[in-house]
Amino acid sequence: SVYARIAEVEPHVKGYLTLTKDLALEQASRADAGFQNGDDMPALAGIPIAIKDVICTKGVRTTCASKILETFVPPYDATVMKKLHAQGIVMIGKTNMDEFAMGSSTENSAYQITHNPWDLDTIPGGSSGGSAAVVSADTAICSLGSDTGGSIRQPAALCGVVGMKPTYGRVSRYGLVAFASSLDQIGPFTKDVTDCALLLNAICGSDTMDATSVDVPVPDFTQSLINDVKGLKIGIPKEYFTPALDSEIAQQVHTATAVLEALGATVEEISLPHTEYAIATYYIIAPAEASANLARYDGVRYGYRNENPEDLIDMYKRTRSEAFGEEVKRRIMIGTFALSAGYQDAYYRKAQKVRTLIKSDFDAAFEKVDVIATPTSPTPAFKIGERTDDPLQMYLSDVMTTPASHAGLPGISVPCGFVKNGLPVGLQLLGAPFAEKKVLRVAYTFE
Ligand code: GLN
Repeated sequence: SVYARIAEVEPHVKGYLTLTKDLALEQASRADAGFQNGDDMPALAGIPIAIKDVICTKGVRTTCASKILETFVPPYDATVMKKLHAQGIVMIGKTNMDEFAMGSSTENSAYQITHNPWDLDTIPGGSSGGSAAVVSADTAICSLGSDTGGSIRQPAALCGVVGMKPTYGRVSRYGLVAFASSLDQIGPFTKDVTDCALLLNAICGSDTMDATSVDVPVPDFTQSLINDVKGLKIGIPKEYFTPALDSEIAQQVHTATAVLEALGATVEEISLPHTEYAIATYYIIAPAEASANLARYDGVRYGYRNENPEDLIDMYKRTRSEAFGEEVKRRIMIGTFALSAGYQDAYYRKAQKVRTLIKSDFDAAFEKVDVIATPTSPTPAFKIGERTDDPLQMYLSDVMTTPASHAGLPGISVPCGFVKNGLPVGLQLLGAPFAEKKVLRVAYTFE
């Protein structure tokens, strides 16, 4: 069973924060009883799934890999969990992540370091590193993660699995602990594109509990698994091929797009001129929203509280300084500064304007092409500890993924080869809003 595999491999990978074996067995027998001898048994019934510890699971501790939520047990299920349970899917545990999804290596977890199964000395990417690693290590069949600036796509690329961020609004965020609400989106990690389409079928759809979820029809995503890219136009944005991009990764991506061309797609160079501002813009908008979202962790309502404060204000201060990690504090400070009176126009409002320009670049590009192809990450998995002292270097891990996040676009990372030292490379495919089917159709080439 999957738990036997976990017993064998998990001590090396450390992808899970919580295992829920008893609950899983109960869910499995219920799924079994509920869907017996029916032709209507859902495709996902009985399939073991791992869930990033930022998604609320009723009765199961949800920590966001933060000390401040160490004892938080949600009294309700996120909408995605309700939808998965309705399919008879079985949750086997909660996965490690960067604290509050802030990071690109999962090293910002308050609890443990997750190791990349391809090379245990390297990071699995982040912030959904646990969710990517457990699928890669076969200690889960599939998993859910969340992507704010690349946290599904980048770890999928580094761990050699498929990871997809749906269009902003496609999946309900109800029960997803908020980091940057205008960017956050839940999505699947799987071994292949078929499973990705099946999970999307299960989790997408508008929800009255999330006002930003969009009421558009949810297609059957498996209809795009047709092995035919003839006539599709693929754009390659020249701005993504900078000197900072690992040359072996560039090579693998070019080989992948050559395959698409050989199969009848048209491949053309395009320009997304504001790409270079995506990271700077992201590191104003995401921390600004985070500083507001994280105000609720005051020691009163959730989890950790300082034991012997002098007064109420002191309790807030000590609780937050003791229980938030370094990166979370850095983001709160950046965000509070960017939103403060006198600086708001110079930073936050300016960032919002640049965000619109980045989105317009994509709008113009999708007038000409169906899907955009880029590398997912500028480098393969790096060594544990290599970037922890250099936040800026860490932030640059997301240079290829943040632009699409600003524009709310659907994006997938599919494995497309290896660099010489054997680490996997991911190809990122982006589509216009709600064009997941086209993205999956192209991605299926690499199944
Ligand atoms: N690595 C980026 C950050 O640290 C993106 C994280 C994410 O998508 N959750 O904010």
